[in-house]
Amino acid sequence: MAKPHDGKPVRTPRQSKPSIDFTCDVCANPARASFLAALEAGATIDEIAGGSGLAPGVLQRHFTECIPQIPDHGGDVSAASDAELAALIVHSEELYCASVLSNNLSAASSSLTVRLRALAERERRTELRDERKAMIEGASPLDRSTWGEALHKFMAAYIDGCLSRVREESIE
Ligand SMILES: [Zn+2]
Repeated sequence: MAKPHDGKPVRTPRQSKPSIDFTCDVCANPARASFLAALEAGATIDEIAGGSGLAPGVLQRHFTECIPQIPDHGGDVSAASDAELAALIVHSEELYCASVLSNNLSAASSSLTVRLRALAERERRTELRDERKAMIEGASPLDRSTWGEALHKFMAAYIDGCLSRVREESIE
């Protein structure tokens, strides 16, 4: 854990919660995007602290724990887990605001692109989930006559997958 108030916190980046932490003074501050903008522009934590009146430790904690660390999937949002996707949506919005504030329009447009892609991917996953839910509604695993066409296809693919794994393992 970072030591909060000594001004020299330990940097411990980690996979953080993809949400805004309302117990964090920086998250609760409406100007938080401008602090990120300053950091991206090369300001030190102490300089941001001096300009904002926030404690350096609180700012450091915010930058390492509240701002999500996004694993790099080469720009492919479909490879991200649900949690990573949620983090990406939050982070790209923060980055967009920060880029606009620092007048970096190319960074703003790329973070906006990432955000739109991530939102579209989340939408696609939600639709897929709804489809899956509808697929098993009223279906009994023991009675194939209760299965719809989609569930038949799903189960056929599932069983094929199991069989080919069994085949591979028996070859090895
Ligand atoms: Zn925060």
